[in-house]
Amino acid sequence: MKKCLNNPIFNIISQIADENNLQTFVIGGYVRDAIMERNSKDIDIVTLGSGIDLAEKVASKLGNNVRVNVFKTFGTAMLKLNDLEVEFVGARKESYSENSRKPIVENGTLIDDQRRRDFTINALAICLNKDNYGELNDPFNGIYDIENKIIRTPLDPNITFSDDPLRMMRAVRFASQLNFSIEETTYQALKDNKSRLQIVSNERIIDEFNKILQTSKPSFGIKILENTGLLAEFFPEITNLKGVDEVMGKMHKDNFYHTLEVLDNVAQKSDDLWLRWAALLHDIAKPKTKKFIENIGWTFHGHEFLGAKMIPSIFRRLKLPLNEKMKFVEKLVQLHLRPIVLSQEIVTDSAVRRLLFDAGDDIDSLMLLCEADITSKNEKTVSKHMNNFKLVRDKLIEIEEKDAVRNFQPPISGELIIETFNIKPGREVGIIKNAIKEAILDGEIHNNYTDAYQFMLKKGNEIGLKAKK
Ligand code: ATP
Ligand code: MG
Repeated sequence: MKKCLNNPIFNIISQIADENNLQTFVIGGYVRDAIMERNSKDIDIVTLGSGIDLAEKVASKLGNNVRVNVFKTFGTAMLKLNDLEVEFVGARKESYSENSRKPIVENGTLIDDQRRRDFTINALAICLNKDNYGELNDPFNGIYDIENKIIRTPLDPNITFSDDPLRMMRAVRFASQLNFSIEETTYQALKDNKSRLQIVSNERIIDEFNKILQTSKPSFGIKILENTGLLAEFFPEITNLKGVDEVMGKMHKDNFYHTLEVLDNVAQKSDDLWLRWAALLHDIAKPKTKKFIENIGWTFHGHEFLGAKMIPSIFRRLKLPLNEKMKFVEKLVQLHLRPIVLSQEIVTDSAVRRLLFDAGDDIDSLMLLCEADITSKNEKTVSKHMNNFKLVRDKLIEIEEKDAVRNFQPPISGELIIETFNIKPGREVGIIKNAIKEAILDGEIHNNYTDAYQFMLKKGNEIGLKAKK
C-alpha cells in the first residue's frame, strides 16, 4: 500500500514515530480515498500513545511556520499544511450510553480504534513505522468491500447505528457519493434503528443530507432515505409528497417521484445547492392544496404561494441558514409556475417584463428550474414546452436590453415628485411612483427619465395635483 503514501508528510511522521517508539498509522477516509484514487484533503493519523505529543513533534520537525491546533478535551491535534489538514489522535476505545451520541473514551489498541469506525471501508489503516511501512491493516475486509462497492459496518450494524445514529445518515451519504450499495443486514438495521435519529441534532443530519443533495444524482440517496424510513424522521414534508389518489378514474402524479426527477434534472445542469433545495421544495405544498374538482380533475391551487410560506419554518427547524439563501428558495418556489403559465399563452412583452421584474437576478435559476419541472414522458409535450421556453428566454433578453427591469430602479425619485408638485411626503408620492412602475412594466412607457417625467406630470394631473411653473 506504499502507493497510498505519496505525500512527503508520511515520511516525516514515520521518522518521528520511530524515534519516539510510537506505533502509528494513517487511517479512515484518506486510506479509502487513496485506494479509490479519489482526492481527499484531510489525513487522519492514529498512534498508540498521545496524538497531541506526536503532532507537536512533527510540527517542530517541519519548522516554525507550522502551527498545531490542540483540542485537549478530545485529545486531538491538527496541523495545517497548505490546504491539507492532518489530524493526530491516540488510538481509542469507545463506549456509549443510551441517550447520547457522545461516547466515554479510553485508550485502546489499533483494533479497538478500528472497531469504533462507522464502515469497513473507513476502518482501513496503513502502518507508518519503518519496519512495516505501507502494510495494510484490514481486519474487517474493507478492501473487499471497496472492490465490490459495499457499505457495511465493522460490527453488528445495530450496535454501530444505535451507538451513534448519525452513522445511518453517513451510510446513505457514502452510498450516494461513492455509488455503493448498502449490504443487506446493514440496510435492515437502518430500518430497525431509524427512530434513533431523534438523538442527533438537525445540524448534523442536514450536513449529511446536503452532501447527498450535492451528489450527481441526488434521487439515489433520497430514495434510500425514504425506503428505510429515515427521511420521515426528519423531513415528513417530503415523504408526504408520496402517493397517488384516484377519484372517478382520475389519478394525479406521484409528487415524490416527480420532485426527485426535477431535482435530478436540476443537478445535471447546476451545482448550486440552493437551486437543488428549490427543486426539492417546489411542490412541497401540493399535499395541503390537493383537491378534486368534478369536470376539472385534480388541482393544487395556490401550492406555489403556500409552498413559499412553508419554507421559513422548514429552514428554521432544519437549521438551514435564514438568510438570502432562504429568500432565494422562497422566491423560486413562489415563481415556479410563472414561466410555464406564460409559455402556455401568447408570450407578451408585458408578461415577460413582469416576470423579469419579480425574478430579478434569479431569472436564470428560475428558468432552469422550470425546464427541469417538465417531466412528462410524452415527447411531443416536452418539445412543445421547451420550444415555448426558448421563446420566453429570447423575449427575456430582448426586453432586458430594451427596458432593463431586471434590477429595476425607479427612473423618477420621490424627491423629484415632491418638488415638482410642491407637496409634502405622503400617499400621493407613492401613488405616482407606483403608477410609473406599472406603466413601465405594462410597456406603456419606456424605462427612461424622459418618458417617466411626462408620465408623472400626466398622473399628477389625474389625481388633482398641479406642477410648479
Ligand atoms: P469525508 O471527509 O469525505 O466526509 P471521511 O470518511 O473522511 O469522509 P470524516 O468525517 O472526515 O469522514 O471522518 C474521518 C474518519 O473518521 C472516517 O473515515 C471514519 O473512519 C471516522 N468517523 C468519522 N465520523 C464517524 C462516526 N460518526 N462514527 C464512526 N466513525 C467515524
Ligand atoms: Mg475526511
